[in-house]
Amino acid sequence: MRPIQARISIGALAHNLRVARRHAGTARVFAVVKANAYGHGLSRARRAFAAADGFAVLTLEEAANLRLMGIEQPILLLEGFFAADEVASCAELDLWPVLHHAAQLDWLERSPPARPLSVFLKFDSGMHRLGFPLDTHRDVVPRVRQMPGVASVTLMTHFAQADEAAGTDWQLQPFLAQLADYRLPWSSANSAALLRYPDTCGDWVRPGIMLYGASPFAEVSAAALDLRPAMQLTSELISVRAIRVGEGVGYGQLFRAERDMRVGVVACGYADGYPRHAPTGTPVAVNGRHTRTLGRVSMDMLCVDLSEFPEAVPGSPVELWGETVPVDAVAAAARTTSYELLCALAARVPVEEID
Ligand SMILES: *Cc1c(COP(=O)(O)O)cnc(C)c1O
Repeated sequence: MRPIQARISIGALAHNLRVARRHAGTARVFAVVKANAYGHGLSRARRAFAAADGFAVLTLEEAANLRLMGIEQPILLLEGFFAADEVASCAELDLWPVLHHAAQLDWLERSPPARPLSVFLKFDSGMHRLGFPLDTHRDVVPRVRQMPGVASVTLMTHFAQADEAAGTDWQLQPFLAQLADYRLPWSSANSAALLRYPDTCGDWVRPGIMLYGASPFAEVSAAALDLRPAMQLTSELISVRAIRVGEGVGYGQLFRAERDMRVGVVACGYADGYPRHAPTGTPVAVNGRHTRTLGRVSMDMLCVDLSEFPEAVPGSPVELWGETVPVDAVAAAARTTSYELLCALAARVPVEEID
C-alpha cells in the first residue's frame, strides 16, 4: 500500500474546543464544521466536539448529516437557505438559518415554516461580502421580528481583519452602536477575534480554524496559543538517490544541486492535497528531524534534501505537517493558509483516527 496517511486526533480536537471555551467566557460556542470539518471529517468532528453548544455548517446536507448522527444541539446554517424550497427543510431539521439578503426574507414571508425558526440576522459592518448594510437596520430588524415564521432573532456580523493589526473595533463599534437599542443577542467572533478580542464574544462565538489546531495569526504559532495540531500528514521515502553538483531535480529542473548531495523522494504530491506551489525550502521532517523540499511538487511525489540524513533509506518516515512541522509553516512557505491546506486533504489519502 502507498505509505501516505493522515492521522486525526480526537483528543487534540476536543482540547482545542476547551481552549475556545476558555476564551469565550460566558458566550456559547458553535463549533464551525463546514468543509468536512476543515478536512477532518464531519463525523469525527461531531464526536470530538460533543461538548460544543452548537455546530455551524454551510449546507442543508451537512446539517441533515449532523442530525442523522444524533446531534441535538442548535445547528447554524452559515449562509442560510439558498432557495425558497429550503425553508421547509430548515424547519424540519430545526436549523438556525443566517438571513443575509432580501430574497431570503421574501421566501420566509411567502412560505412561513410550520414551526417558527430562530434566525441569525447578518449585518455587513465592513467585510462587504454578505449581510444587510448596517444603515438599513430600521427596515430589516422590525420586519424580521414580526414575521410569523420567526421565533427569535440573533444579530450577527463577520470580521475582515480580526487576524491583522487593523483588528475588529472599526467593525464592532458601529455594529454594536447602531443595533444596541434592539437589545438582542449577538454573534461576531471567528477564531482570531475570539483569541485576541474578548469584547467581540457576545452571546455566541464561531471558532473554526483554531479547533483544528492551526493559528489564525501569521505571526503567532498554534503552540503559543495552546492549540494542538489535529491532523498529521505522514508518508515515507520511496526512493533515495545521490546527485552531483549542477544536476537538477524534478519537473522543470527547478532545483539544481549546489554540491553533491542526497535526495529523497516522498510518496506525497498535489493529488494528495499537498500544495503544488510549495517552493524549494518548504519545511518537512524526515525521521523526526527538519529538512526542506527540493524543486517542484508533482502529482504523486515530492523531493526532499537528505544531505544531513545519511541514515535515511526508502521506508524512512516523513511528516509533511503535524506535530513536528506545523501546518502553518508549510502554508507560509507556500504562500497560502492552513485553512486551504487542511480543507484540501484529498479523498485518496487514508485517514487513521487516534485518541
Ligand atoms: C468559516 C466561518 C467562521 C470560522 O472562521 P475561522 O477563521 O475558521 O475561525 C466564522 N464565521 C463565519 C460566518 C464563517 O463563515
